[in-house]
Amino acid sequence: MEQWISENIDKMEAVAREGICDRCLGRMFGKLSTGMTNDIRGSMIRDALKENGADVPAPDECPLCDDVFDSLDIFAEAVAEKVVDVESDNFLVGCRVDPAMLKMEKDIIERHNLDRFESIKTELNREIGKVALPMIHRPVEFKNPQCVACVDVRFADVTLDLSPVFIKGRYTKLSREIPQTIWPCRMCHGKGCPRCNGTGKMYQTSVQEIIGDIALEMCQGNEHFFHGMGREDIDALCLGEGRPFVLEISQPKRRDIDLDELEMLANQSDLAHYHGLQFTERAEVQRTKTATPSKTYRVTVKADSKVNKERVVEVALSFKNVHLNQRTPKRVEHRRADLVRDREILWVEAEVTGEDTFNLTLETESGTYVKEFVSGDDGRCTPSFSEALGVQCYVQTLDVIAINNEGMK
Ligand SMILES: [Zn+2]
Ligand SMILES: [Zn+2]
Repeated sequence: MEQWISENIDKMEAVAREGICDRCLGRMFGKLSTGMTNDIRGSMIRDALKENGADVPAPDECPLCDDVFDSLDIFAEAVAEKVVDVESDNFLVGCRVDPAMLKMEKDIIERHNLDRFESIKTELNREIGKVALPMIHRPVEFKNPQCVACVDVRFADVTLDLSPVFIKGRYTKLSREIPQTIWPCRMCHGKGCPRCNGTGKMYQTSVQEIIGDIALEMCQGNEHFFHGMGREDIDALCLGEGRPFVLEISQPKRRDIDLDELEMLANQSDLAHYHGLQFTERAEVQRTKTATPSKTYRVTVKADSKVNKERVVEVALSFKNVHLNQRTPKRVEHRRADLVRDREILWVEAEVTGEDTFNLTLETESGTYVKEFVSGDDGRCTPSFSEALGVQCYVQTLDVIAINNEGMK
């Protein structure tokens, strides 16, 4: 008698007396020996018990597995049928079983204090996968499968869970009338109402939707999500090399789409443009969202009274690596916590364009409120450009001209 059996013979007899089949019996001791199926392991145990004087015959019908393994071919065919319909480099089988089956398995395991068992779900997943493999011609992937086929073994019904496609690139926003992302209607929260003309949205389109809707169709996916490296206000442009972003398409049936074609189609819009598209992985979303690049802005400014040209230039030059205390601006107070933040102005350049108008180009630390730096926001931002100039000034237009993330990790 093999040692792994003789050492556990009493426990094995007690489990066999539960009246389960060879496969289930073998599975209950699945990790005690390797290199054989649960079925063979179970029949070896049963033979050894008989040899030892305990004849516990296998039942005609197994109360635990309900002979579910007789239907492996049906499950595998159902899996293959669904999987070959989608694009993926690999696949993995998962399953859903009758909760009563799991309860019975758990009871037996607890009753006999078993700790080297394999679960029935693990065996089902593996065995369905084995039969399906030659029909699918794709490798099985355990860690990061692109396609998980979940079989409900009660109905031989298969649902697919497809890992998202991630596409990164940079965008420029050429309109002061669109937001970066979909903006649901404030009244109906997306359901559609008279206020939004049934669209469910505050704005007809967005930087997200222009490219996302096209990518969604190309990928035959469910939904798109847009992850920008920060965002600009609706009325701000984003120019220059543009802002990095990651577009996520959920449940894509196609993943090997032509990114040149996507870029070309998206760039037919004159509201936003996109470039440098490439496929990326999920981790890029977090990297993009948590990056804190400095930003360069160009703003046009109007003062409440005439300004002295030399003085404006002088004040601009005085903001060289100057730290601000910025309290949460009045305009965003309702949706952000009221805090005082320390933010740095790296440099400012001025160009006077009229008696009471001038342009500023400035580079600031990530998270600086530029409009408030200029206006002072009623004393909530100090120092401020208005305070230093001694004349109240306001930003008329604001454009992002660079996101300085080169060399950032
Ligand atoms: Zn069984
Ligand atoms: Zn609405």
